[in-house]
Amino acid sequence: MAAARALIVVDVQPDFLPGGSLPVGEGDAIIPGVWELMESNAFPVKVATQDWHPPEHASFASNHDGAEPLETIRLHGHDQILWPDHCVQGTPGAELYPQLPWTRVDAVIRKGTDPRVDSYSGFRNNWGPGGDRPPTGLAGYLRERDVEEVVICGLARDFCVQWTAEDAVEAGFRTTLVWDLTRSVDPSGDDELRSALEEQGVRIVEKAELTP
Ligand SMILES: [Zn+2]
Repeated sequence: MAAARALIVVDVQPDFLPGGSLPVGEGDAIIPGVWELMESNAFPVKVATQDWHPPEHASFASNHDGAEPLETIRLHGHDQILWPDHCVQGTPGAELYPQLPWTRVDAVIRKGTDPRVDSYSGFRNNWGPGGDRPPTGLAGYLRERDVEEVVICGLARDFCVQWTAEDAVEAGFRTTLVWDLTRSVDPSGDDELRSALEEQGVRIVEKAELTP
């Protein structure tokens, strides 16, 4: 089997879209382009990630006495931003965005399911109580499907997309990020983020530059 290219759609869920509990500005602007990539035959393998937290999740400010959303605390020896409750398992905000063609996706990786540790990346959790970043199994899944290149889009650019792209490089995949099919929680850091990702070996393109 020839080396394959995989599409990874990160966390396109109602809670991260306008009207959700942790909305990413203009998050809905990426939907038509993401739809097109999901429908495209250019990707023999398509996977999605889904933020999927139990209500007692450690990343929720509501689970820390006196804490406010967007405060930073130390968790297992690393900085952890506290978020509003979001993507709680089984709630409408945690669904895969209903208007996208999910039947085209081969596998969905649910992440952030361990109440003790956050998981921005589709490949590995953030640092847990053991001091390591346990893998989700995505790298192994892609390797078994002969994937050598991943093309990443979704939300949010400066958290889950960034960490997924960095870990994809680290795991040895050629990694492309479709810049206009992502949006940031804090767009003021976008220039810096773009340079940092490019330095780490992530190829950044606009959707129009993607070769079929
Ligand atoms: Zn989350």
